[in-house]
Amino acid sequence: MSRHTTFRYCLDPTVEQSVVLVRHAGAARFAFNQSLAFVKTALTQRKIDPEYPVPWTRFDLINAFNAWKKTEAAGRVFAVDASGITEIEVTGLAWRNQVRQQVFEEAAADCSSALAAFSESRTGKRAGTRIGFPRFKSKGKTVPSFRLRSIQAKTGRASVRVGDHDTARSVTLPGIGAVRVREDTRRLRRLLAKGRAKILYATVSYRSRRWWISLTTESSDLHPAHRHQPRKDSDCQGWVGIDRGLTVFAVAATADGAEVARFDTAPKPLAAGLSRGRHLAKSLSRKQKGSHNHHLAVVRLGRHHRRVADIRRHFAHQVANTLVKTHDRIVIEDLNVAGMLGNHRLARAISDAGWAGFARLLTYKQAWRGGTVIIADRWYPSSKRCSACGTISAALSLADRVFLCECGFSADRDHNAAINLAMWPTMHQNFSRSPDPRAGGRVTKVRRREGADRHPLGVGETVPGEAGTEIHAALAL
Ligand SMILES: [Zn+2]
Repeated sequence: MSRHTTFRYCLDPTVEQSVVLVRHAGAARFAFNQSLAFVKTALTQRKIDPEYPVPWTRFDLINAFNAWKKTEAAGRVFAVDASGITEIEVTGLAWRNQVRQQVFEEAAADCSSALAAFSESRTGKRAGTRIGFPRFKSKGKTVPSFRLRSIQAKTGRASVRVGDHDTARSVTLPGIGAVRVREDTRRLRRLLAKGRAKILYATVSYRSRRWWISLTTESSDLHPAHRHQPRKDSDCQGWVGIDRGLTVFAVAATADGAEVARFDTAPKPLAAGLSRGRHLAKSLSRKQKGSHNHHLAVVRLGRHHRRVADIRRHFAHQVANTLVKTHDRIVIEDLNVAGMLGNHRLARAISDAGWAGFARLLTYKQAWRGGTVIIADRWYPSSKRCSACGTISAALSLADRVFLCECGFSADRDHNAAINLAMWPTMHQNFSRSPDPRAGGRVTKVRRREGADRHPLGVGETVPGEAGTEIHAALAL
């Protein structure tokens, strides 16, 4: 079991269930903020006493929260007895039994991850944009969401189940019960029934005025028949270059010049969606702020954006699936090339973001099939190089659709770039022996989601004894 996949459905809760979902999302936000408050208080203390411990690991924060929720600070009532003596009764967090305790723990764990991300970004262990210190989640501004682990009972029954009580379109959550979903769940039910997948956790979130559920599952490797035949190290054939086009989404070609696939820019609903998006945005701008109609227009535009994003994502999945099914060795260009083109048009920026997401899909889907995706050196001039004679033409501009070389070779611009990408690995034969970090290296494994297999198996709360089982690295602050 090594693949992690996510199944997402739109929930259709009853009115009573919606109330429960809102309560759980509120509890998650509360626990995150409370955990962050523990850290902030400890940091203030540490200014006075440099030895003062700062709780920040997953277990530190879970234990801190579990201890805190029963204290006077979390809740108390004044009780007056018959003789008129007032006593303070410590109740702890009064509403804590109205939600699953796991919700608190997962939120505390999220706070810990946010702190770790900040710390790693600060010390340079984490690449990419700088990550700031976590901030408190505010009610209106953050997406309401919560997460529940699926726990296997001794009887073998998981706490998160799909299609219980002969209701195929439903997901059963611990403490909440069976919630109806709008989509067909057959694919997931089949995997679960055959024991080829198991649900790790369920994340429920409220976006575009709807409740969604994402079920993260761990599933077994693809059937050998669906995997690529392993190649010998000496084999340097079979590379396919994929270039994103200016007018098409992507073009794939082999090193000997054959174009093997071409994908149009976007599915038709997307083009139609653009004009509808403009129409909805205009309609919104005409509404008076704070009015009911303004609110409705915001909702409509939000739903539209969501739909367009869904179509685009679906399309990217389809293209990536087609490519990894037919080719075991794929070369794509370095994503940073995009930034170097210096084109600041919005459309281009969107397409860049889409391409980065596409490269990620391609990489993990290919890893499932035992194939390879490599990223060509970012200095490799794939679009300016002549794939026939190797001359680099500096004169090529973005507007040129056709590549023309002095040697007489001419080809579609994207086709020529794809051939060049396919030629890259054979031109850089040592890539597999000494993977150049800049070149991406070869992909051999699916990366396990960090922490996904570290959920404690006990039902309910984490016992204090479990604290300290993780290595406590110092938090860089
Ligand atoms: Zn040439």
